[in-house]
Amino acid sequence: MATLQQFPYFIEKAERIKPFWDALNQGKFVSTRCSECEEVHFPPRILCPKCFSTNVEWTELPRKGTVESFTFVEIPPEGFLESYYLAMVRMDQLEKPILARFVGENPPSIGQAVEMHFESIDGQNVPVFKPA
Ligand SMILES: [Zn+2]
Repeated sequence: MATLQQFPYFIEKAERIKPFWDALNQGKFVSTRCSECEEVHFPPRILCPKCFSTNVEWTELPRKGTVESFTFVEIPPEGFLESYYLAMVRMDQLEKPILARFVGENPPSIGQAVEMHFESIDGQNVPVFKPA
């Protein structure tokens, strides 16, 4: 049976992405920015997809965005106790939208301003969106 120890590529990748997860636990949303062409990436990259430079640095990003689309997950997957909304949000400084759970008293709406917050699952913060 395969174990993670047999795939060092994944272990290396996990170590390089660790600053992202650590920042979430500090209530910060970070990703990488290319030091050569200034391109901001999400998810974080070790290689700039625009100019192929490996000279990338961690940078904190704004946590505000706008709902582009959403869906209602009526039958929750294992580990979730109840139904929830998933919102696809275009963040203020990112080219591509991010998908995360929406937490609010009312359902989300397209064009709604939201802010990224964090919820702890087993000691690791994960992003959720709340109305701004
Ligand atoms: Zn670049």
